[in-house]
Amino acid sequence: MFRSFLIKYGEIGVKGKNRYIFEDALMKQIKYALKKVDGEFAVTKDQGGRIFVEVKSDDYDHDAVLNALRHVFGVIAFCPVVHVEDVSIDNLRKEIVKYVDAVFEDKNFTFKINTRRAHKSYPMTSMEVDAALGEAVLTAFPGTKVDVHHPQVNIRVEIREIVHIYSQEIEGAGGMPLGTNGKTMLLLSGGIDSPVAGYMTAKRGVILDAVYFHAPPYTSDRAKQKVIDLAKLVSDYAGPVYLHIVNFTAIQMAIYEKCPHDELTIIMRRYMMRIAEHLANANDCLGLVTGESIGQVASQTLQSLYVTDSAVSSMPVYRPLIGMDKQEIVDMAEKIGTYETSILPYEDCCTIFVAKHPVTKPKREIIERSEKNLSDVIEGLLEEAYATEELVIVGRG
Ligand code: ATP
Ligand code: MG
Repeated sequence: MFRSFLIKYGEIGVKGKNRYIFEDALMKQIKYALKKVDGEFAVTKDQGGRIFVEVKSDDYDHDAVLNALRHVFGVIAFCPVVHVEDVSIDNLRKEIVKYVDAVFEDKNFTFKINTRRAHKSYPMTSMEVDAALGEAVLTAFPGTKVDVHHPQVNIRVEIREIVHIYSQEIEGAGGMPLGTNGKTMLLLSGGIDSPVAGYMTAKRGVILDAVYFHAPPYTSDRAKQKVIDLAKLVSDYAGPVYLHIVNFTAIQMAIYEKCPHDELTIIMRRYMMRIAEHLANANDCLGLVTGESIGQVASQTLQSLYVTDSAVSSMPVYRPLIGMDKQEIVDMAEKIGTYETSILPYEDCCTIFVAKHPVTKPKREIIERSEKNLSDVIEGLLEEAYATEELVIVGRG
């Protein structure tokens, strides 16, 4: 019954030339989201800058459209719209009753009709249309009542060549359209946190590349597949994600053999950061993103974060979860749909490489001194890791 969807988007920071960039990015992203929905759609913009999804096919999957639109950053809300071609008032009376009948299961509510005429040539004023249609609803559904100040339901009627009727507003994902704020490199593991960190970054309009470090045979193919699956889930919001899979085994082994065991984790983390930074520079990314939050684990004390961070010299490291509690992160993971996959049991980091008592307050100088033990081999190992990188593109191209 709905033939189009009116897209409501934020106006903040969307003035002048930026407005077109914002709107074009938004429309592109809506088209992307609709690619996986059965049916044919067009995304249009009218002179007033209002964006619509128009249904072109006779049949389409309505719920799938709602679900797709909920995944588009920059959309604050959207409204399913009914089209009426015969604009005569007698027909509109019938159509408004049909509309209320179909949309509201419970017909006990207060409402208001809000008519706008794009063509002032219409033979009635907006207020006359309001009154005529209001009366039609009241007559058909005795449980309804008009309340012009605080109606529970605001039914909008827009008269143009055809008439649009809508009243429902479905909450969107908010944020900024993807592609309006550059690109970053997400360190994506199989855990709960980093997919959420990726979501939060993409929400601000930032395109994601991602890097996953695996350590075969210590980490399994299933662990790798889990990360690919997580990248796919994130890409439902974040558009196609270029996932760089880096073989970290030899570097991890070298650290294990040559560095103090209580420093393994922090040194490993520093090499992950260095490799991510290298890939970020090679792929036009302007920052790194991790799922760290202060104090969550030994490697995320303020001292550890300081030492991890100091391995990166050419770009900022963003940590969108920095002040969140684990439970808040879990709630968010559930909301965005990554939690179920994140908690699958496959190890993403080999346990033999994790010290029983890792340093919780590492000192930068001491860690740097330990890393000197690697100086004979590390360049070659890094070259090897870059050379054997596997690129997986997830999402609908
Ligand atoms: P997560 O739930 O995201 O795995 P975590 O609580 O397990 O986080 P750590 O294992 O200490 O925390 O990792 C901290 C961050 O480092 C992760 O959020 C992620 O950004 C990055 N990271 C850790 N392991 C890997 C990996 N194997 N590949 C890519 N990034 C990783
Ligand atoms: Mg982890």
